[in-house]
Amino acid sequence: MLVVRRYMQSSNQRVKSSYILKELEEKCATPSSKLRLIADAMSVEMHAGLASEGGSKLKMIISFVDNLPTGDEQGVYYALDLGGTNFRVLRVQLAGQSGIDSQEFAEVSIPPQLMVGSSEALFDYIAAEVAKFVGDESEKFGPLPGRQRELGFTFSFPVLQLSIDSGTLIRWTKGFSIDEMVGKDVVAELTKAMERKGVNMRVSALVNDTVGTLAGGRYDNKDVFIAVILGTGTNAAYVERAQAIPKWHGPHPKSGEMVINMEWGNFRSSHLPLTEYDNTLDAESLNPGEQIFEKMISGMYLGEIVRRILCRMADEADLFGDTVPPKLKTPFILRTPEMSAMHHDTSPDLKVVGNTLKDILEIPNVPISTRKIVVEVCNIIATRGARLAAAGILGILKKTSRDTIKDDEVPKTVIAMDGGLYEHYKEYRHCLENTLNELVGDEVAKHIKFVHSNDGSGIGAALLAASHSQYI
Ligand code: BGC
Ligand code: MG
Repeated sequence: MLVVRRYMQSSNQRVKSSYILKELEEKCATPSSKLRLIADAMSVEMHAGLASEGGSKLKMIISFVDNLPTGDEQGVYYALDLGGTNFRVLRVQLAGQSGIDSQEFAEVSIPPQLMVGSSEALFDYIAAEVAKFVGDESEKFGPLPGRQRELGFTFSFPVLQLSIDSGTLIRWTKGFSIDEMVGKDVVAELTKAMERKGVNMRVSALVNDTVGTLAGGRYDNKDVFIAVILGTGTNAAYVERAQAIPKWHGPHPKSGEMVINMEWGNFRSSHLPLTEYDNTLDAESLNPGEQIFEKMISGMYLGEIVRRILCRMADEADLFGDTVPPKLKTPFILRTPEMSAMHHDTSPDLKVVGNTLKDILEIPNVPISTRKIVVEVCNIIATRGARLAAAGILGILKKTSRDTIKDDEVPKTVIAMDGGLYEHYKEYRHCLENTLNELVGDEVAKHIKFVHSNDGSGIGAALLAASHSQYI
């Protein structure tokens, strides 16, 4: 009798979970026809965001970077990188056309309570790390007599840039939430904190990480035209013609170009394949209604979406027995690196999946058939994210007429990529690159190249500090 009951239960469970899985697959589907509509919507929003301030959900922020590095930059410069889970201080010694002589960095993680505390506490923490970093450095790197150290500040949040070295925070993203900072000049806050800690440094460039990555990428390769970050959050920057920016009323840049920080994480379109899981994740987030694209494709959220799906399967299809395992109910307990490890599990008995479920979610002895379902969920969510990211890139290519062949010519487009998701989630990265090829076709794809710009944003910010130095 008992045996029969178990069998009934498990067969019922199988039917229900395969129903939920099938429904998920349908709702998350991203056929190329849909991706093209999304790319078109992206390019329409780009136009709108460039036309007027507040004209679109895409901020299309003018970065005040109208000249990318040339390779002539010289001297010792610093960079600070704040924007994800880690904070980094960097020093680079630039030796003109012979490249980078030396670089050194220190990295610390940001204590979670500082992400939601006061701005003074956050900036004091950063400034203290900077003080330690320069305090430890050897004489040979110190500033020349009478000169101040100069730094590029990579601050990876939406900032309304007022000049190359000032800008006010529009809003927080990615789990940061310090209300009193919104509307304030982030450079002024950092400068005050450095003064409090006795550090004599001047911020000569304030940049988004995408803009830093574009600058760092261009230093290595003159065909770099777009930069995309896929990490905790996501965003893109690219080189726009100054003429194509109606909302720019400043002096016409000599180069005729301006780098635009799109803030594409806030993109939204009725074509996006949103599910109930996305909607509840958004509603319960620190920033409901904002960063919808980011919440579907970036590293902070992918694991959490998977957790929500597994939760429903546990509840409605008894995926892990008759009750929902308590740990599985904890928001953000399943992080994207673990999701990635499960997704890449090639062992015949899906050992990594079994161990992850046991160690992180405290669900022991999960049968292989259930492990397979978990991998399938990871696959559906990673695939959707990667394909949407590719659609975003196609949107930029369309806006800049690099998606087709004109007069037998296609400009060479190198895309500088960075961020932990891109770097470590192989399936995601491959899916993204393959999808872009699928969308533009083989002929155009030959002229598009992805390069991983490993921490290009730090070096890029230092390079921009050099080209905006007060001493040149
Ligand atoms: C921020 C962007 C940033 C991106 C990647 C997003 O949440 O709004 O400014 O470039 O994350 O770090
Ligand atoms: Mg980063």
